[in-house]
Amino acid sequence: MLLPPAAAGGRERRDVESAYAELGALGLLAPGSRDGRLTMTGSWERPRREGPLDVRVLYDDYVALRDELEAGAARELELDVRNAFVDGPVTQYNVVADLVGRERPDEYVLVQGHIDAFDGAQGACDNGTGVATTLEAARLLASLDERPRRTIRFVLYSGEEQGLYGSRGYVRDHADELERVSVVLNHDNGTNYLAGIGPTLAMLADFEHVFAPVQALDPERPFALRVSPGLTPGPSDHAPFVEAGVPAFHWDQSQEGYRRLHHTQHDTLAEVDDADQRHSARVIALAAWRFAELDHLVDRTRLRRPEPRRMGVYLAREDSRVVENVVPGGLAEGAGWRVGDVIVAIDGMEVQDSKQIAAELQKGGPQKRVVLERGAERVESVLDYTDDPQEAERRAWEEEPAEAR
Ligand SMILES: [Zn+2]
Repeated sequence: MLLPPAAAGGRERRDVESAYAELGALGLLAPGSRDGRLTMTGSWERPRREGPLDVRVLYDDYVALRDELEAGAARELELDVRNAFVDGPVTQYNVVADLVGRERPDEYVLVQGHIDAFDGAQGACDNGTGVATTLEAARLLASLDERPRRTIRFVLYSGEEQGLYGSRGYVRDHADELERVSVVLNHDNGTNYLAGIGPTLAMLADFEHVFAPVQALDPERPFALRVSPGLTPGPSDHAPFVEAGVPAFHWDQSQEGYRRLHHTQHDTLAEVDDADQRHSARVIALAAWRFAELDHLVDRTRLRRPEPRRMGVYLAREDSRVVENVVPGGLAEGAGWRVGDVIVAIDGMEVQDSKQIAAELQKGGPQKRVVLERGAERVESVLDYTDDPQEAERRAWEEEPAEAR
């Protein structure tokens, strides 16, 4: 059965599905994205479901079929679908190898990527590229006659795409080691060469020292240190480490071309750039060695910026001032906000979109006066962050002079 594109998500879609299921439909066809991608995403746990199969086809195929059906033609489809549900939980394994340190074997530099991938293609870029640079950095460093001062640990996680299960498990099971992990270098951003990294100001001097020789490796592949106001957990296996207070990094890489590949049928080995890969492996090996050789661990002062203030709503995509959903238990619910309310001003500043809303929300004291448009009415409300446990940290962060961070 074909689903109209507009019904390809959310509640509307579930209504359409159950209506078709009642009519005895065996399956539903939905279109991939208009630019030809079939994007795999993980809804990591789902109940075993009876009812129609859910099949996604290329957008052009979908449109061709729809046009034929609308013109009155009858079509019969044969689908070869080889998905299987298994009862969970499914055990996942991390792969860990140590190059044991000569002086401080119980202090660590972690080099890592993830070994799992979506199966729409080969997972070559996400994250075969990170696995390959991790292995190649290990090979390069193990081939030296000398051992590093600290242990360099190479880790390939599993269960990343389903919710960082491998790295969360690692952080949980190695909790007593985390204060001795100097730095975590995570490669999970595609094949474009490693072009930079974002230390905090407290770490900057060490990073300048560590990465000084990288600049000379290849003039066509420059490397930049970008001072970060605080590390953010981000979307990969460095996140659980940042959350646990460990300096953990996702390399800066150009995202050019990556959107087309990421989690799609296009993510094949043909898309991997060999020269970029070789260069990146060298950057990682060199960085891991030089971090391991420092006479101290990487500085953790003001490692993580406090969480931004949140309202407890989802904003609409078309007009991002419009409340599309109110999160139960959130501040907005407590302040009586409703679906359809339009945010027009915060503390007297008019706002045009979600970006301005987010920016105004972070400024000033903990009580934010928000003007909402509700139909023809204007409603004043207050979002009060006074009791938010993060608020003290936000204050301290705002008051600290920028150069001290
Ligand atoms: Zn990935």
